This record gives sequence, structure tokens and C-alpha cells, in this order.
Amino acid sequence: MKKKEAIVIGSGVAGLATAARLATLGFSVNVFEKNDNYGGKIALFETNSFKFDTGPSLFTAPSFIEDIFAFANEPIDEYFTYKKLATACKYFYEDDTIVNAYTNNKLFAKELNEKLNEDENQILNYLKTSENLYTKTGNFFINFSLQKFKSYFSTQFTKAFTGFKLKHITQNLHTYNKSSFRNAKTVQLFNRYATYNGSNPYKASAMLSLISHLEHNDGTYYPTGGMFSIADALYKLALKKGVQFHFNNSVERIIVTNNRVKGIVVNNQNIYADTVVSNVDAYFTYKNLLLNFNKANKIKKIERSSSALIFYWGINKEFATLDLHNIFFSDNYQKEFEHIFKYKTLYTDPTIYINITSKQEPETQAPKGKENWFVMINVPSNDKINWDIAVNDCRKIILEKLSRILKQNIASFIETENILHPKLIESNTASYLGSLYGTSSNSKFSAFLRHPNFSNNYKGLYFVGGSVHPGGGIPLCLKSAEITSNLISKSKQKH
Ligand SMILES: Cc1cc2nc3c(=O)[nH]c(=O)nc-3n(C[C@H](O)[C@H](O)[C@H](O)COP(=O)(O)OP(=O)(O)OC[C@H]3O[C@@H](n4cnc5c(N)ncnc54)[C@H](O)[C@@H]3O)c2cc1C
Repeated sequence: MKKKEAIVIGSGVAGLATAARLATLGFSVNVFEKNDNYGGKIALFETNSFKFDTGPSLFTAPSFIEDIFAFANEPIDEYFTYKKLATACKYFYEDDTIVNAYTNNKLFAKELNEKLNEDENQILNYLKTSENLYTKTGNFFINFSLQKFKSYFSTQFTKAFTGFKLKHITQNLHTYNKSSFRNAKTVQLFNRYATYNGSNPYKASAMLSLISHLEHNDGTYYPTGGMFSIADALYKLALKKGVQFHFNNSVERIIVTNNRVKGIVVNNQNIYADTVVSNVDAYFTYKNLLLNFNKANKIKKIERSSSALIFYWGINKEFATLDLHNIFFSDNYQKEFEHIFKYKTLYTDPTIYINITSKQEPETQAPKGKENWFVMINVPSNDKINWDIAVNDCRKIILEKLSRILKQNIASFIETENILHPKLIESNTASYLGSLYGTSSNSKFSAFLRHPNFSNNYKGLYFVGGSVHPGGGIPLCLKSAEITSNLISKSKQKH
């Protein structure tokens, strides 16, 4: 019997996971990637012995990766190891308050009681509600295709209704958090979860409070060797399952005849397969690979998630007060989000995130006695800002703020510097407007507006990754790979 063939365009985390799953299902899989390496937004570089993960830094829901290895019947430990963190994040406020977000909920509640006068039981109840919301309602959204009629006849769908209250839909995350906590600092801390999928807590529904479940109840983790080891493990698994990779191969076109996919054009050559999975942003897939401008324009109208400006600094000093994940909050969070989403301009007092992997692996991530700082602020998706100018302004603001709060002249410790901004994110990975997580979740209907994992226009065309259902971020991209490969497998069984 002829082997089933599939082409995957792009080797981001979702493309890699889809390739590994399809190969396990017996497909002959070819992956075409425009860059010279796999991983997409998950990438790394090294300079003067400082190692930097360029994109994602927060690792949650490791069970989603374990699922792929279990599905492929391969021992995950031989590919990928990770450890649970005791502290999810360290929060710094301008008035010198420091809050440790311990992953032990009782310790975290005690910390919030001591530092911010919160009621410990209220914190524990909030996290319990988040868990309920995630396990009942969230699980339906992330495991099923919302555009398949059948999904609504599953028991998970019925269960989804028991997980939430009306206020989770009618209130935005900020209003919900404001009514849950006493102190504005706690509200700000829990509002931050909207940024985990590039959204605005003053717009996005309180459903997003379920994200705190992942970090606190399920846990926050660190992958040995940093975030790139996630892409590395999936790549090695895909190779083991027989997937063929073609790097430096930018796909030019998806071949379609009578609304049926026939293959792709790459390097002016036609390569045929009746299943094509695009891991490329859905907007660019329609615009550049299908020349379907009508559909591309419809997708373009959906609001994009935020983007980021990142400075990778090799720091020639160790900072005992800092942890793996650190946040330096802005004084006016609402204004900051207005700038990101409404005015699409830079805010003069941005919240700063610093990730330092040498805190976890001092021997390998930075030279002895030094630290690798990944310093990020949330910014609007790449629209009207001139980044060549903006980068210098932001650098100044960030250095002033960090020097003020850490009471040291940070600029004097910078030994190496590299920069990533929205325009580069867009060109590196073909992510429309450089958005980190595809479309935003600011609308109550976001989950339903997101492009499905299959095409209604072209038979045999499927989509995976951050720009499609169920959304951006590594855990959801892995879920999208699972949904898509299941859809392909079911469709093949029918024929
Ligand atoms: C700075 C930053 C910070 C982030 N922080 C986090 C975090 O802490 N935690 C988290 O979970 N997530 C985070 N994210 C989001 C996460 O990285 C993404 O959601 C996820 O990696 C997207 O994976 P993907 O498979 O959808 O696509 P991508 O990684 O975008 O990969 C798409 C691939 O397609 C390739 N491609 C594009 N066009 C073509 C073509 N024509 N032919 C062939 N190949 C093509 C690209 O080169 C790329 O390799 C962050 C992202 C960024 C950029």
C-alpha cells in the first residue's frame, strides 16, 4: 500500500510536534523550513560565552510534551529533562515592595498576606476557582476544534458549562481581580496573566484567570539547557520517527486544483502531497502562499496580540536579589495597556521582565560570576513605530528604571548587547506584525474568531501554531498539533 504523505511548512514548535505525531501515525512527512534551523520563535544564540534563548522563557504544562513522547512510544528522559521551580516569579514594585510568587500555594498566600495584606483563604480560593475553570472549561477549548459540529456533542462540552460563572464572561480580567483582592499590587500581579497570550487585562474576559492555574497549581518549570531544548527534543523525536527536514527552503506557493491541495512549490519545484500543514501565520499563508487576498484581508481585521522589545545583555556581575523570572511593574498598568493596544505607541514607564537562565544553570549559561539577562518589555505589534529610533529611547528608560529599583548603575555592567524588536520578529518567523501569540484574546469571542486547524476553502490543507486555534504560547501550540494531526488521521480513515 502507498504510504500516506504529508508536507509541513515551517518547523516552529507546532510544526515539529505535528511532524512527529503524523510520522507516528504512519505518514511519510517532509518539513520545509525557510530558516537554517528548527524552532521558529524558539531560538538561541551565544556570544562571549553568554547563552540566550531568544523567544519564550516561561515553561508550563510539561505534560503536553510528555503526551507527544507517550504517543510516539519514546522515552522522554532520553530527549528532554526539566525541573519544577519553587518560585514562579519575583515581583518588584517602585516602592521597594518585593513579592515572591512561590509555586507552593500556601506559601504564596502567606507571602501575599504578609507583603500586601491579602486574605490567605481568598488567594487559595481564587487559585482553586482557576483550577476548576481550567480543568472544566479550558480543557474543552484547548482539546477540541471549535469549528467542528461534533465537538459540541462531547461530554467535555457539557462539562465546560459547569466550570465557569457568568462573571468570567461578562467581566474583564481586571474587574474580576479587583473584586477578588484588597491590594492594587495583587490585582496588578494577577492582571499580568493576560500578557501570557499577549492580551490586555482591561479588555480580555476574566476567563483568562485560568492561566494562573497553570503557573501555580500545575507548576512552573525549567527545561535543562533552556527553552531551546524543547524544540531540540521535538526535532530529535521527529527525526527518530523518520521525518525529513529541508532547511533554507522557503515555500513559495501551496498548489491547489479545484479547491484541493496538491502540494507545494519550493525553489521553483513542485513537490506533491495531498496533505499540507501550514505552520506559517494564517494571514501570510493566505496572502503569500495561496494568493487568496480576500481571506487574508478578513484575517487581517482580527486584532493581533502584543509584541516585544528585547535586550539580551551579558552582565559582568551577579545579582543576588534576582531570580530566574523577575518583573519590575509599571506604576500605571492601565495606561501601559492603552499605549500597547489603543494608541499603539510606547509607554514611558513600561513593565520590565528579566529572565536569567544562569540562575538555574550557572555553569553553562554564562561565564563564571556573570549573568545572561533577557530584558523584555511588551510593545504594540509592528504597526507605526520606527524601531531604529524607538530602541534607543526604550533602552534609556529601561536602564533608568532598573538602576533606580536595583540601586545600581546597570549600564556599567553590560558586557554584550543584542536586540530583538517586532519588525525582526516578523521577518525572522513570518509572524504578522511581529505578534508573539497570533491574534489577541481581547474580545469575548476571540476563541471563536481564531482560524480553525483546517481550511474550509481547500481540502487537504491544515493549520497549526500560534496564529490558529487554540492560540499562541508553547502549551497551546502543542495542543494545536494534537488537534490537527487527529483531524488529518480521521480524514484519512474516511477515505
Ligand atoms: C519574544 C517572545 C517571547 C515569548 N514568550 C513565551 C513564553 O514565555 N512562553 C510561551 O509559552 N510562549 C512564549 N512566546 C510565544 C511562543 O514562542 C510562540 O507561541 C510559539 O513558539 C509559536 O510557535 P509556532 O509553531 O506557532 O510558530 P513559529 O515559531 O512562528 O514558527 C513558524 C515557522 O515557520 C517558518 N516559515 C515561515 N514562512 C515560511 C515559508 N514560507 N516556508 C517555510 N517556512 C516558513 C518560520 O521560519 C518558522 O520557523 C514568546 C514568543 C516570543 C517571540
